[in-house]
Amino acid sequence: MNTVNASIITIGDELLIGQTIDTNSAFIGQELNKVGVWVKRRVAVGDVYDDIWQALDQECKQSQIIIVTGGLGPTADDITKPLLCNYFGGKLVVNEKVLAHVRHLFEKVFRRTGPMLERNLKQAEVPDVCTVLHNARGSAPGMLFKREGKIFISLPGVPHEMKGLMRDEVIPRLLKEFKMPAIVHRTAFTAGQGESMLAELLNEFEPALPAHIKLAYLPNYGMVKLRLTSQGNSKEDVEKEMLPYFEKMQVLVKEFLVSSEDENLEVVIGKILRARNKTIGTAESCTGGYIAHLITSVPGSSDYYNGSVVSYSNQVKENALGVGHETLETAGAVSEDTVKQMVKGALQLLKVDYALATSGIMGPGGGSEEKPVGTVWIAAGSKDKVETMQLHLRFDRQRNIAMTGGNALNLLRKFILSDPD
Ligand code: AMP
Ligand code: MG
Repeated sequence: MNTVNASIITIGDELLIGQTIDTNSAFIGQELNKVGVWVKRRVAVGDVYDDIWQALDQECKQSQIIIVTGGLGPTADDITKPLLCNYFGGKLVVNEKVLAHVRHLFEKVFRRTGPMLERNLKQAEVPDVCTVLHNARGSAPGMLFKREGKIFISLPGVPHEMKGLMRDEVIPRLLKEFKMPAIVHRTAFTAGQGESMLAELLNEFEPALPAHIKLAYLPNYGMVKLRLTSQGNSKEDVEKEMLPYFEKMQVLVKEFLVSSEDENLEVVIGKILRARNKTIGTAESCTGGYIAHLITSVPGSSDYYNGSVVSYSNQVKENALGVGHETLETAGAVSEDTVKQMVKGALQLLKVDYALATSGIMGPGGGSEEKPVGTVWIAAGSKDKVETMQLHLRFDRQRNIAMTGGNALNLLRKFILSDPD
């Protein structure tokens, strides 16, 4: 089988010092993988001429495709273009098409007044040894170079521009240039059990897999994705061979299985609600609207999501949701009784079939001996019944919130599935 390897080189000091998180590599990796390119290496280098040069030298020993992002801006720290020009032995020339595009952007799209700056006009200069890749979303063109059967592609660092170029220019060209194998992933999504316990359930299954089918465990906030990966000449054949293994794996973890697709809890819940024609709402204290954000990140969620009360203070828990003053005084805001009453209040106020409530101490302050940081109560319910769950989290604030969100959505999912209606 023919393997086509790629290396991704990201350029920018800000990536090395963590000021900007390198999201470009993740996107490029996904897009390449979808069409059968094996991403072999990812390298990040600063805005340093020799380091970028060396990275190019190194990566073309590894891969047939080298994709570079960053360093194409109009400022002095951006040196990728002259460097590539030297690397491939060309000279910079004005490309009339790019110039017209840059002018169009500045005059018609960005609506800048006054003459265009020299540094912006310079964006229309490209090495005469490259193929220009049209950047419909910005002024820095992409560039494609060929050498000894290898393809080097330079893309702007701005994620939105890089994405447009990857989809519209890069992938179609790579598909023409290389014959790719089919890479197939099947991902089952579990929740409520850690990866070690899942591995126990799969301890006979995993070693019995054919050597070319790989199993990966991907844990994330109370969920674990189990991914099988294989490759071959045709997508259909690989899928067919993988199917019985994928099905067997799901049977083995069925108690914790949420979905046979690579999707999120909020998507799964949306599908269930849509199928049952039911609505939900949320009453969030410690998650502060995070669950509402997750649910509303799904397109079309307005069909089943009515809204939320971010009842952060006791006053709002009492006044908006009708949590008893007595309960808040005696059991406290972080208690089973409170979240149960929050559910009841949300059901009435938001006029929904199901409601989800959270209350907890996310840290770093606010804990006590009786209720340490990480104590969380969650409730999911309908007018007939309320289920609760307590968590004892031990992470930082952000992770505690994310873990609460994931566990709450899973409680809600199980509650809805167990509801006879
Ligand atoms: P540049 O092309 O180097 O001028 O980068 C333009 C913008 O894109 C800057 O704000 C960078 O921080 C951002 N950027 C560059 N590389 C990446 C990357 N790998 N992931 C996410 N953002 C990036
Ligand atoms: Mg830069």
